[in-house]
Amino acid sequence: MRRRRPLYATGADEESATPGGRGAGVNIYRLIKIPACGSLPGIKVRQEASLSNSQLTPGVVPGRLPATAYAANFADVPPPLDPYEARVAADRCYFCHDAPCITACPTAIDIPLFIRQIATGTPEAAATTIWAQNILGGMCARVCPTETLCEEACVREEAEGKPVEIGRLQRFATDRARAGGLHPFARAAATGRRVAVVGAGPAGLACAHRLARHGHDVTVFDAREKPGGLNEYGLAAYKTTGGFAQDEIAWLLAVGGITIVTGRALGRDLTLEALRRDFDAVFLGLGLAATNALGIPGEAMATDAVDFIARLRQTPDLAALPVGRDVVVIGGGMTAVDAGVQSRLLGAETVTIVYRRGRERMGASGHEQEHAATAGVRIVTGAAPVAILGEGGAARAVEFAYVEEEPKGLVPTGETFRLRADQVFKAIGQRLEGVPAGLALEGGRIRTEGPGRTSLAGVWAGGDCTPAGEDLTVTAVAQGRDAAEDIHARLAGR
Ligand SMILES: Cc1cc2nc3c(=O)[nH]c(=O)nc-3n(C[C@H](O)[C@H](O)[C@H](O)COP(=O)(O)OP(=O)(O)OC[C@H]3O[C@@H](n4cnc5c(N)ncnc54)[C@H](O)[C@@H]3O)c2cc1C
Ligand code: SF4
Repeated sequence: MRRRRPLYATGADEESATPGGRGAGVNIYRLIKIPACGSLPGIKVRQEASLSNSQLTPGVVPGRLPATAYAANFADVPPPLDPYEARVAADRCYFCHDAPCITACPTAIDIPLFIRQIATGTPEAAATTIWAQNILGGMCARVCPTETLCEEACVREEAEGKPVEIGRLQRFATDRARAGGLHPFARAAATGRRVAVVGAGPAGLACAHRLARHGHDVTVFDAREKPGGLNEYGLAAYKTTGGFAQDEIAWLLAVGGITIVTGRALGRDLTLEALRRDFDAVFLGLGLAATNALGIPGEAMATDAVDFIARLRQTPDLAALPVGRDVVVIGGGMTAVDAGVQSRLLGAETVTIVYRRGRERMGASGHEQEHAATAGVRIVTGAAPVAILGEGGAARAVEFAYVEEEPKGLVPTGETFRLRADQVFKAIGQRLEGVPAGLALEGGRIRTEGPGRTSLAGVWAGGDCTPAGEDLTVTAVAQGRDAAEDIHARLAGR
């Protein structure tokens, strides 16, 4: 029988530090305790019965867990509120005048109003309040980092350290109203104006819906097979279960006047010049399709975390998705956490996120870092990758150098360590590529002024592809919506 490796305090053969360096003779596992699988508070990482592959199988293989474990591991987090819980949660709201939660919401939803509507037993009215500002309010209720937005600003968070559960209440209202078939917006009389939207992510969809409400005809082009952008291909599977992204899009299209054309890429099948000629206005919501490179030896053995997550989101069978036994994720943002946590939920035995700066500089919020720890993912900070080591194109380990932050930047301390890894994910940020000629850029993204106006007349942009994008779904929605209002005003001759 094979012995299970201990999850901490392993021998020096597992992972070693530079002789004589800060970690000399110390295994990094000794420094950070990882809870054993199956005993994780809040998250159930199931491992039962023996299979052809297990958590201990070396390499990158599918089916590390029993078939029944996947559904449980990828269940809704957190689960929805039932009507009684929603009433109780709504009753905690003080319905503040000048509510700070509204200011903290990028889409400025009237939060006290919708919570009062829930409290008075009218969740459909609450949903209408939410959708009036944020047409993807259902998805945002699931994926917004509310702990750094509305709930952080909630007065009850400051007073008691326990905010009103705004995100879960928003989900309660929008889910109830959608399930009841409510789409509370009708189109205005047709204007005869046509607008092209490129990119069917949150920015493009929000823009399209608002334009359609104003009576314009909208055609949304997207390079991929399905609409939704990162709602469909990027967000963590356990945040948006049960095909929610496509359901929400189908519901959004009920407004009418929107045609979605998939498999058509700007720069390959379409030109900006032709779109400007054929349509009255163009909105670009391209997101950030390319990923940054590590620039270290052995990089070819690493996988883009975003590609891995897209495969995970699209697979009909999570058990068929290969994952490493020892996974190392390089990066410190939401993508790094999502790749790490989901690798673990797929059955990776060890998952380590390594970030070059301190925890306080990580793009992933404190809440997300805690979520990673709860799932048994450890986070090592202050270390930069030096090389990925392996043979035959397969990774075996990653070498890191400890670094310190100094005014001139990150400086190696001279100490190094290696982590065993048969799968390495890079999650060090995305970038824009293939920007049509003639558009002015700022920091590698499409420069915009005011509500998304680009340097080209008749062309607007919003979401992650602009410098104003905050790499948040809700911000992309706000920018798409606001650009649509500006396009409408321009088309109406105001
Ligand atoms: C792994 C991951 C996890 C995330 N988790 C969260 C989260 O939990 N919460 C949160 O708030 N935010 C999260 N984000 C960020 C959030 O997903 C984005 O900020 C948001 O999706 C941006 O919306 P967008 O419409 O600007 O771009 P995208 O969602 O990227 O959509 C852009 C669309 O444009 C299309 N496109 C691109 N180029 C072309 C072209 N040339 N021609 C035609 N179509 C094109 C793409 O196919 C895509 O459909 C996450 C991001 C990632 C990568
Ligand atoms: S700040 Fe908190 S208590 Fe006040 S209105 Fe917003 S959710 Fe309610």
